[in-house]
This record gives sequence, C-alpha cells and structure tokens, in this order.
Amino acid sequence: MAVDFQQIIIGAGFSGLGAAIRLQQSGRSDFIVFEKANQIGGTWRDNVYPGCACDVPSHLYSFSFAQNPNWSRVFSRQPEILAYMEDCVDRFHLRDKIRLNTGISALKFQEKQGSWKVETESGESFTARTVLLGLGPLNVPKIPRIEGQDSFTGVQFHTAKWCTDHDVTDKRVAIIGTGASAVQIIPEIAKKVKQLFIFQRSPPWVGPRPDAAVNSVIQGLFRRLPFLLWLPRTLIYRYLEFRGRGLFGNPSAHQQMQKRALRHIKESISDPNLREKVTPKYQIGCKRILLSEDYYPALQLPNVELITEAVTTIEGNTIVGAEGTRREIDTLIYATGFDAASYEKGINITGLNEQSLSDCWSAAGPEAYLGTTISGFPNLFSIIGPNTGLGHNSMIHMMESQFNYILSYLDLLEQRNALYLDVKTERQVAYNEDIQAQLAGMVWSTGCNSWYQMDDGKNTTLWPGPTTTYRQHTRKVEAADYVIQEKDAISDALSRV
Ligand code: NAP
Repeated sequence: MAVDFQQIIIGAGFSGLGAAIRLQQSGRSDFIVFEKANQIGGTWRDNVYPGCACDVPSHLYSFSFAQNPNWSRVFSRQPEILAYMEDCVDRFHLRDKIRLNTGISALKFQEKQGSWKVETESGESFTARTVLLGLGPLNVPKIPRIEGQDSFTGVQFHTAKWCTDHDVTDKRVAIIGTGASAVQIIPEIAKKVKQLFIFQRSPPWVGPRPDAAVNSVIQGLFRRLPFLLWLPRTLIYRYLEFRGRGLFGNPSAHQQMQKRALRHIKESISDPNLREKVTPKYQIGCKRILLSEDYYPALQLPNVELITEAVTTIEGNTIVGAEGTRREIDTLIYATGFDAASYEKGINITGLNEQSLSDCWSAAGPEAYLGTTISGFPNLFSIIGPNTGLGHNSMIHMMESQFNYILSYLDLLEQRNALYLDVKTERQVAYNEDIQAQLAGMVWSTGCNSWYQMDDGKNTTLWPGPTTTYRQHTRKVEAADYVIQEKDAISDALSRV
C-alpha cells in the first residue's frame, strides 16, 4: 500500500519546525506535522510565566538557516521567541503542512511495508515511511505530592501551566523550588506581591547574565547585510564551547567557573547569613548553571523570605516547611521542574517483533544511537532524544546536527531503495556504554540530585562533551551501523500501490 506521507513529524516546537524546514530544503515536501496543542511553539508556547526568557543568547538560540536580524535583546523573552517561531512558519510556508489539535496516541511499525501506522487520539490513522518525534524533553510538569495539598484554599499551579487569570499583585505567595524557572519568576513577581516565601531545598549556582537591548542601528545593519549575523552567532557559540570545557573535565576551567559564581554571590549580597543560604554545597555545573542579574537583589527585598526547607505539609491556607516553618499564603507556585525521562510522552510505540518502546526502555532507561535512532524501531527518529541535552550551549545546534543525520539516513534509504534501516543492537549498546563511561567521570556525576539523572543515578539526558564532537558524529550515516532491509518483490509492489 502506498503511504499517506513520506514523513510524519510529531510536534511543532523547535525540533518539529526545524525538521520540517530542513526536509523541505532537501526537496522532500510530502510530509505533515501533527501538533497536539492549538498553536505551534512547544516550550515557548507553554511557558508564559513572568520573566520567561532564554538563557542562551538569541543570535545563537535560533535556526542557523533562519537567522533573525530583529532580536531586541541579547537574551530574548518568551513572546519574542514565540513570534520568531511563528515567523519561521510563514517564512518557510509551513502553515498548510501543520495540523493543530492533533494528539498522537500510537505508532506501530509495519515491517512488511516498511512504514509506520500513526494513530491520532481522535481515532484517525495515517501511514508514513518515516516518523520524526519532536516531542520536547521538558514539558511534563513534575508536581511533588505534598500532604494536605488538596486542602489548599488558595490558587496553586505549576510554572509551565501559569494561571494567567490569577493576578498575584498584593498576594501572599509561596514558590517551591529555585531552579531555572524560579530564578526568572522571582525577580518579576517580588516587585508586586505582598509577601514572597521561597522554599529552597538546595540552592542553584547562579552566574551573571550580561543582558542588553540590541541597538536599532545594529538591527538595521543586520537587516541590510544579513551575512553579518554569522559574526555574533559564531562568537557566542565559540565562547560557550570554550566555557563548557569547565564541565568536561578541565579542572582549572571548572575552578574558574566556581570562583566567578562565588564572586557573583559576594558582589550581590552583603548579609553573610543570606550568602551562606544561597551558596551551593555541590560542585558548579552538577545541576544546570543559572544566569541572572536580578535574582540575588530580589532575595534582599523586604517582602521576600528565603526559607531553606523543603515543603512537607499544606493545611488550608498554610504551607509548612520540613523544619516547622509555617506561612499563610494565597498563591502556591510549583517551580519543581519536569519529568525529563519520559521521552515517549504517553505515545504507545511498537517496533519490530511487536516490541514496545516503553518495555524496551523500562530496565535501563532511554537509550538510542546518537540520541536519534533506536534499535528495533526502524525509520523512526527522536529529536533531542536520550543523551543529547546540554548544560553549556544551544540546544538548537544539537537539533541541527540531528537534522543532518536524519537527512543522511533518508538519502541512504532512498539510494539503497531499502525498506528500512535498523541500527544494529551491538552498535547502540557499545555507543551507550561509551557515553555512560564518559559521563561517570564528569561533574554531573558528583553527587547532586538533578533532572539529568534517573533515580538510580544513570544520566540519560546529557551529551558528555563539546557539541563539535556531536556534529562530527552526526555528519553522515555510516551504512555499517545499520541493518539494511532490502525491499523484496512483494513489498516493492505493495509500496507502489
Ligand atoms: P528544575 O531546574 O528541575 O528545578 C526544580 C526546583 O524544584 C529545584 O530547585 C528543586 O530542588 C525543586 N524541587 C523539586 N521537587 C521538590 C520538592 N519535592 N520539594 C522541594 N523542592 C523541590 O526545574 P525548572 O526550574 O523548571 O527548570 C527545568 C529546566 O528547564 C532547566 O534546567 C532548563 O533546562 C529549562 N529551562 C530553561 C530556561 C532557559 O532560559 N533556557 C528557563 C527555564 C527552564 P532541588 O534542586 O533540591 O532538587
């Protein structure tokens, strides 16, 4: 049977949109993008909390093939990033290729046809030769179970489900967590709430954020001479790679990083007691390093209290810390992060031999080859899959490496007129053993508790090194890494019907 589409992309965030653009640029236009929500944008659609911005400079945190001369700040805020993504959809004429409000419930590989059957939540089904998963790593909110939570008489919500109808002005607000989202929210809401109680379980390392507006003369120059956009992009990229060596086992670079962050605390906070409270007890880089100029000043506002306790109980309108601190509140914000290990996002994925992906990953956690292809699940790609995350540079750079790899895979599939390519199990196993061996000696394995690791300590999220190495590995698919299933006469005939 002929397929409905050559490619189906699931998700219209940065991964899905970027993949769509690159497919189109390679001359492949028989694809569709299914998006569960009623708008494109992924994380930049979902996160609308006050102060939401990217902590990677925008001239780098954007597609290299769709650079933007109009960024208004070094670190752009969420509305501007979402507007950029909408603009990309128009610029590359993708609107008609995207079907919104279409959640996917199941994917099933049809071995004889060498294609995927894709089922939607509303009961439709489609077929495609290949499927690209652009599901995003950080969009399943993690809300801790707290005794008495359901008895809370105020308004409570997670940062990624910001309650825009609820005005926090003059309210007594508690925020649980001091990660990347909290550090952006706290300075914004501290200005307007009556009281802000921050429940901190462990302090983050926070470095300075050199933000600034981009001068209109510079924007005009970039518009007239767009090739100049490569200059800030390259400089920022190289600088972040250079700085990243502090995370990859260079002790003096790591020490420098920690010294700079300690100096940031000293220069921002005069009270020794508060300095002590915000100084992490784990090595810098073990959790994501945060950037903010206004977080430490916000902690020193008279209406803000940093409580160094986890939350144990909620009783009506009272929140109770592990050491017994009790505060009456109107609003409770969970800045408690995401479930980063749930790569399949509830989609039931069945590969060769009726094997389910969640069963396959249940024992050792998510594993793929180059974070992109998965043994036993041919013609399927996970964009920002296992061990492709970064603590030091732009994720869009990693996605673009994966796009190169996927296009190379499609070239090989077409050149060989193959039914499917399946990455060899032994290749995937050896690759993951190597990744884990590298990670074992790196800063992320030095004993802190972070979303980079599973409960047993295995790091299934991060790429253990410079992005330049990943770019090299993903430049071209090596045919020897794959079982290449040739089309037989019957399947060839079927695929043409
Ligand atoms: P996060 O970094 O995982 O932080 C979660 C916070 O909640 C931590 O402080 C954690 O404390 C605390 N926490 C979790 N469970 C708790 C519990 N049961 N009781 C008390 N405290 C609890 O989450 P996030 O701030 O949402 O950020 C997640 C990721 O999103 C970031 O690492 C980043 O990759 C991404 N992000 C990026 C940007 C950007 O600018 N690019 C902005 C926001 C988010 P412990 O540290 O003690 O576990």
